[in-house]
Amino acid sequence: MLAVKKWRIESRTMLMHIQRRFRKKDRATKVTNMDRAKEYFDIAYPPVYGTRWPSIRLALSSKQKYVAVVNNFANHEVTVEKFQELGAMDIRHKYSYFAERLRARKEEINEKKSQEGEEDTSQDEDGPKNSKLIRTSLLELDDDALAARANAEPISRYPEEYRRRALAQDHVPGTAELDYISRIILPSEVGSAGISAMMDYVPATKLKGLEDWIEETDVFLDASQGDQDIGLQIEKQEEPINLPSMLKIYAFNKTDISDFPKPKMDHHMKLLDYYALDGASLLPVLALDLAPGDRVLDLCAAPGGKTLIALQSLLPGVVVSNDISDSRVQRIRGVLRQYIPNNFSGFENVSVVKKSNGCDFKEKEAYDKVLVDAPCLIDRVSMQEDDNSIFKTTRTKERLKLPELQSQLLVSALQAVRPGGTVVYSTCTLSPLQNDGVVHLALSRIWQETTIECSVVDMTYAVRSLSFLYRFGNNLGLRYGQVVLPSLLSNFGPMYCAKIRRLK
Ligand code: SAM
Repeated sequence: MLAVKKWRIESRTMLMHIQRRFRKKDRATKVTNMDRAKEYFDIAYPPVYGTRWPSIRLALSSKQKYVAVVNNFANHEVTVEKFQELGAMDIRHKYSYFAERLRARKEEINEKKSQEGEEDTSQDEDGPKNSKLIRTSLLELDDDALAARANAEPISRYPEEYRRRALAQDHVPGTAELDYISRIILPSEVGSAGISAMMDYVPATKLKGLEDWIEETDVFLDASQGDQDIGLQIEKQEEPINLPSMLKIYAFNKTDISDFPKPKMDHHMKLLDYYALDGASLLPVLALDLAPGDRVLDLCAAPGGKTLIALQSLLPGVVVSNDISDSRVQRIRGVLRQYIPNNFSGFENVSVVKKSNGCDFKEKEAYDKVLVDAPCLIDRVSMQEDDNSIFKTTRTKERLKLPELQSQLLVSALQAVRPGGTVVYSTCTLSPLQNDGVVHLALSRIWQETTIECSVVDMTYAVRSLSFLYRFGNNLGLRYGQVVLPSLLSNFGPMYCAKIRRLK
């Protein structure tokens, strides 16, 4: 009896040991969603970010940095004192110094130029290069030129084994043999129908069996070269980006990776004392250049971080926070409940929450400022979290459709803003296609399908007043927006941000 019992225990132990070994092996060979994300980025980004990619990658896999936005509706003086004691810097101090220095430098250059009898022709490394209305475009290329583009050899920069690995790795049964790493665009569609290939989203099902493709980044590089494709004015923002006077924002210095403590409840106001968020999230809200009484629409607002910054500026007359998803709309409400009083005199109707599909937003020409903080590849999250990743094989189609969705959202925003108003498009990805590519696509659609006229606001100069905080990507061939690159010294972002003014 005793021998049988002993044998049972021994065999169970042995079985558990074998199972554990197998599980371990399984874990060791399993490709995670994070692996897929990293492999995608390792192929798609080096052609654009070059030697900067390894340090960006390291930063993306490391601890992210936050800034703290003081809640003006709680006891803000106590909160400010707390941050001072922690040794956090008041962003306004540095901003004022840098903005002043920038202005002085500009005056100096202009003065020098006027003494030399030169025009102010200064061009920045990146950003739109023209200041006149340009109407020569791909739309006006003759048939031969279009045919030449369509028959162009596919550009190939990545080693063959990467392509094969990508194909092997992300096969979605029943849909298509799709290289998820390179968003494939048929060479024959480059320039077809008079629009650049970047504008043609090719559904996965169209790709089965195709041998030729063009990588996402190649298409971007191709499209970012040459002259403008669409009728567009470029205006330069000649003033440093504005930091609203009521915003109180604290961050630790570049080399300091201290954490902020957890937000505390102000028991008198029943509100939390500050909101922590990725420091780069400030940029799109600052780019809106909020003015007193502005009607602001945050088209993709959940969980509500940027809505909250806009409200903390105390400038807007109303902020409408919209999102498509029920549960995420509940998150906006939850955040607002924790930070904004609902009985604050004069503030009753300032914050409105809506649930609707932003691609089909019903109110036209109703807002002064619209923010489109679009769903995207969320690079940092994709590299660090496996759950519900956008790189899950079951979400492949959704991922590939992102540029289409993003451009529809941006078109919708340009219809929701009044003539003279401003739209800011932002993402937290480094994907050139989802950034400048989407702006290009949306502006092309606006140009072709509506009577709306727009200008792109070149913020290259304006954002320099924030270079003490962010590492901006220069000389990346960006045509429309600015990008904050994550770095170990200032581990914010990524954040892409483009500003468009509706003229008519
Ligand atoms: N702006 C937010 C913030 O700062 O807290 C983050 C926005 S998040 C990057 C993108 C949001 O877009 C998600 O909450 C998602 O539910 C929403 N979204 C996706 N598709 C949408 C659509 N068609 N219309 C409106 N919102 C959409």
